[in-house]
Amino acid sequence: TSFSDLALAEPIQRALAAKGYDKPTPIQAQAIPALLDGRDLCGIAQTGTGKTGAFALPSLHRLSADPKPRPPGGCRMLVLAPTRELASQIADSFTVYGKFLRLSVMTVFGGVPIGRQMRALGPGVDILVATPGRLLDLIDQRALTLRNVEIFVLDEADQMLDLGFIHALKRIDQLLPKKRQSLFFSATMPKTIAELGDRFLTNPAKVSV
Ligand code: AMP
Repeated sequence: TSFSDLALAEPIQRALAAKGYDKPTPIQAQAIPALLDGRDLCGIAQTGTGKTGAFALPSLHRLSADPKPRPPGGCRMLVLAPTRELASQIADSFTVYGKFLRLSVMTVFGGVPIGRQMRALGPGVDILVATPGRLLDLIDQRALTLRNVEIFVLDEADQMLDLGFIHALKRIDQLLPKKRQSLFFSATMPKTIAELGDRFLTNPAKVSV
């Protein structure tokens, strides 16, 4: 498979060419067609496999194919990551893959003052990458709503549980719209994690690398 076989929008193909990527990695080749079809996805994959591209590329395609104004105080896509480092890396990937699109990307995480993040969310954002605790703080401060989320990604579910985010994730699940596309990734998939995935996913395509 080459990227040109996947029906990604031309500005995304151009960003991939600019990066020098000509072939999808195995997880990208498996995941992208299902995600472009609007399916939910459950992926067993580690960092370093091209997992970020696997969810960022089709999501950028779908958001740009259905242009909408940024939802004030909200976002069209939410990506949850366990740590600020991973959240920043994911946001950087969206910026690179989306550099020829006009979709905004914002990152929010804890350990830094919340006021600037609250103000930045005011006009809304297309793609929000967040850690769970700070996300809930912003919601509790009425600076953020999840009611406009069309695509939801939970990345590194196993790390999320190790870091004690289970309660936060259950709360976030209840705040998300029922009608949405959901993606769930973990490096390992023991029963507790598969059960967490079941909460978020509907008839998911499954990929494993
Ligand atoms: P990830 O697992 O998403 O963190 O990606 C691991 C590394 O592979 C990152 O440095 C990416 O920029 C790079 N990468 C992702 N997709 C591709 C691809 N199709 N071809 C070459 N490198 C890639």
